[in-house]
Amino acid sequence: MATEDNNPWKRSQEKLRAIAKKIHLDPLLLAELEEPDRIITTSLPIRLDNGNIQTFTGYRVQHNNVLGPYKGGIRYHPQVSMDEVKALAFWMTVKCAVINVPFGGSKGGITVDPKSLSENELRELTYVFSRKLARAIGPEIDVPAPDVNTNPTIMGWLVEEYEKQVKSQKSKVKTSLTDNQLKAVVTGKQVDQGGSLGRTEATGLGGFYALMHVLKKLGLNPKDMTVAVQGFGNVGYYAAEFFYKEGIKVVAVSDSKEGIYVKEGLNPDKTLACKKEKGMLSGCYCIGSVCDVKNGKQITNKDLLELPVDILVPAALENVITAENAANTKAKIILELANGPITIEADTILAQKDTMVIPDILANSGGVCVSYYEWYQNMHNEKWTKEDVFKKLKKQMEEATNDVWTISKEKGVSLRDAAYIVALQRIQNAWKHEH
Ligand code: NAD
Repeated sequence: MATEDNNPWKRSQEKLRAIAKKIHLDPLLLAELEEPDRIITTSLPIRLDNGNIQTFTGYRVQHNNVLGPYKGGIRYHPQVSMDEVKALAFWMTVKCAVINVPFGGSKGGITVDPKSLSENELRELTYVFSRKLARAIGPEIDVPAPDVNTNPTIMGWLVEEYEKQVKSQKSKVKTSLTDNQLKAVVTGKQVDQGGSLGRTEATGLGGFYALMHVLKKLGLNPKDMTVAVQGFGNVGYYAAEFFYKEGIKVVAVSDSKEGIYVKEGLNPDKTLACKKEKGMLSGCYCIGSVCDVKNGKQITNKDLLELPVDILVPAALENVITAENAANTKAKIILELANGPITIEADTILAQKDTMVIPDILANSGGVCVSYYEWYQNMHNEKWTKEDVFKKLKKQMEEATNDVWTISKEKGVSLRDAAYIVALQRIQNAWKHEH
């Protein structure tokens, strides 16, 4: 999925080196962060429903664990490249440091189109992967989570097989953890399997808290603002819903098929219900090109990014704001809820236009923050209410946003560079204790 120009690993390393130079990061630590600690590639043979054997490839990149156990999602996708996974693992290292949770960074996946497998085959594939990873992961070693095309059900299978491996007489995995603690090997589980309340909303809600804090710093009233959200999945939908409840006018949302623009503002909940019922986001607003809402119209994803709004929220894919369209964006604030939605060239163009970018490593860190709460609840045999989770998340997002904002003002740098500075300084402080 990565082109040479926008190779995310190359891009992440350029940023690392630039910030390291700015803050005189210890060259030994820089060298450590320039390559992952460990890359695991493993073959995964399974018996298909028709009796044939098919072998898939799975991998796990453990980037760095100075701050705590490696932490990062697992994606099932036919076109994932190793450079992309390495970059995502690196970003996890940085993200955990920015939001100040005691985790390092990792990422993994299987090269597979999950839609081409039956449920039984997908479960078998997950079991084999879990068996192969059993000695490399663990609540105190490396903690996977859902990512693209994986979900709480798949996480449940991963835990099930991991527990079986650990408890088997022949197991080479030794642990003194209790049954409940063993569940902390994975986060993003179903609530009845040890998942945390509030995890589903966490990334969108965390982004909302970060945005509210920035608006307060800027002296802007949310009720005077308009927002467009690209991507109406887990992250985009919840973000839009929390904006709406706060009185921010949500004028546009989109999914992979289409977008909808309603100048008077739309109700995200109602829009989602219409999408479910009629199969289209524009289901409640348009029939073909005829729209029955005042000023409502069907738009493309490209149009959405260029709308005259105060806040733009890319919450779908990487590399959507590029050198080609950055100059056409009108928003004064961009909240990056997707990972890596703005290319390096576009970042420069946006800075020249004085567009404030709230960077992904801060804006979407609410997800890993609540993953940490899930891990903590499993490890300490606790169950927190959703209200408790949201209260802690708000505090943690506000503190992280404040740290980043302060460094940005002190050093006269962008919020993105400030977030990297906060993260690398935290990692360096912990690293110094080990050396
Ligand atoms: P999701 O699969 O639930 O939703 C993705 C959305 O993007 C869907 O609405 C889909 O229709 C839309 N989409 C797909 N292709 C598109 C295209 N070409 N143009 C516009 N929209 C398109 O995924 P998600 O969990 O909401 O993740 C969205 C982004 O947020 C990803 O970049 C992910 O890495 C990042 N993220 C997610 C979490 C999390 O907790 N889920 C945490 C941190 C970062």
